[in-house]
Amino acid sequence: MSTIKKQLLEIKNRISSAVKKYDRPNHSVHLLAVSKTWPSNLLREAAMAGQTSFGENYLQEALVKINDLADLDLQWHFIGPIQSNKTSDIAKHFDWVQSVDRIKIAQRLSKQRPIELADLNICIQVNIDNEISKSGVSSANLMAFAEQVNQIERLTLRGLMIIPAKTDDPEKQRAAFKHVHQLFTQLADLYPTVDTLSMGMSDDMDIAISQGSTLVRIGTALFGKRPTPAPSGQVH
Ligand SMILES: *Cc1c(COP(=O)(O)O)cnc(C)c1O
Repeated sequence: MSTIKKQLLEIKNRISSAVKKYDRPNHSVHLLAVSKTWPSNLLREAAMAGQTSFGENYLQEALVKINDLADLDLQWHFIGPIQSNKTSDIAKHFDWVQSVDRIKIAQRLSKQRPIELADLNICIQVNIDNEISKSGVSSANLMAFAEQVNQIERLTLRGLMIIPAKTDDPEKQRAAFKHVHQLFTQLADLYPTVDTLSMGMSDDMDIAISQGSTLVRIGTALFGKRPTPAPSGQVH
């Protein structure tokens, strides 16, 4: 069995044990393979082992892989910071954008979404540790922001994405995730299209699942330690 296939099985087992342990419904947590910095052939291996959704942070390298793997039926999620001049390629080549935190960006994605494609799935990135990270909408502004996004055509509001501040304290982590889950529940009550809470990465997926995550974004635990440093200001 290939290493990727083994790792994929192991992560799926970790997800299903957490789902059982925390009394979550079966199949309520999806796995997004975060493939930034890894070459197309490795993603192809993961796809051959059954993985269908991939998350990318850097547009240029993502476009190469999307093109290389165009023969496969895959879903692509953009999960990195978005500059205005990149929205056109994102709108053309991705199925989901999880890192929306400015209305101007949402409007551009809407205008640039090609007519022949389905509406673009959107998660709003929330920032509950305000002073620590610059990306994301604060919890105070979230509901007003969501109302605006929900009105923009060609976009479907699907939920929230959170990258919590790094901490070694599992209780702090749990509290942060719990807070985001409360915001998610409020949002889902208002908007029927909202069904996705994107939280949890390689190191904190179990806690995230315990607090209601519906999508975990896993890089390192699947592909191994990333070979090159990420550009500054980005999760590595
Ligand atoms: C890199 C990245 C991940 C994956 O992190 P790992 O710790 O490698 O699992 C998840 N989400 C975002 C937004 C990322 O940038």
